[in-house]
Amino acid sequence: MKSSKPVGIMGIPYDEKSSFQKGASQGAHLIMQTIKSEANNSFSENGSNTFDHFEDLGQCSISDYWDIEKAVLAGLNTHPKLLILGGDHSVTYPTIRAYRKKEHQFDILHFDAHSDLYDSFMGDPYSHACPFARIMEEGLTRRLVQVGIRTQTDHLRDQVQRYGVEVIEMKDFDRNTVILFNNPVYISIDMDGFDPAFAPGVVHQEAGGLSSRDVIHMIQTLEVPVIGADIVEFNPIHDVSNTTAVLCAKLVKELVSKMSYQ
Ligand code: MN
Ligand code: MN
Repeated sequence: MKSSKPVGIMGIPYDEKSSFQKGASQGAHLIMQTIKSEANNSFSENGSNTFDHFEDLGQCSISDYWDIEKAVLAGLNTHPKLLILGGDHSVTYPTIRAYRKKEHQFDILHFDAHSDLYDSFMGDPYSHACPFARIMEEGLTRRLVQVGIRTQTDHLRDQVQRYGVEVIEMKDFDRNTVILFNNPVYISIDMDGFDPAFAPGVVHQEAGGLSSRDVIHMIQTLEVPVIGADIVEFNPIHDVSNTTAVLCAKLVKELVSKMSYQ
């Protein structure tokens, strides 16, 4: 069933919570430019023309971290389904807080090399290494499923236990995996979840990751509505031949299609 409102695509050019190197704030506008480029057409693999199903809401101007929650709430007032283009991964926590004010219950599917569950990182509890600790301690979702994880420390394994997170570590990953949910899902994609061969444009490259097809397959085979999504941590400074920008644009097409038809 086609949803009546177009998906709102909102850029959040915020990278103040990046622990090592900034630049992810430059990602969002480049992804949108790539989507609109005539180098590729706008069709998703299931045959829908993405341009018919989204509205470009432009870039938010964010000066303070908590402005993100306000901006997402404002976006949700006009577009019940949003696709957020980051920015670093810290944008996900305020985004989920905004969603929680609108939606009763939803699960989160999170692709990443890192579990981002640090209680605090370099003294900052809102670092891009911490969003899922904040989300879980506030009980903003009942179920968090992480895929592609390959950098767990002892502290992070403790946090997984503490919050009851379901982790599909990369070492155990089966590429035919179909992830089953009972509730609507919010999808958070950190581009470093991909192998750097597929997505070199990230600061924290971690070899041995997911392929483009692995992630597209998991999105396409979801059987529940996708109520929102974010694509974060794309850092154009590290990109090679636009490879990561093009993968981000491909993900936008598949996500918009998925969000529009279920
Ligand atoms: Mn990561
Ligand atoms: Mn992350």
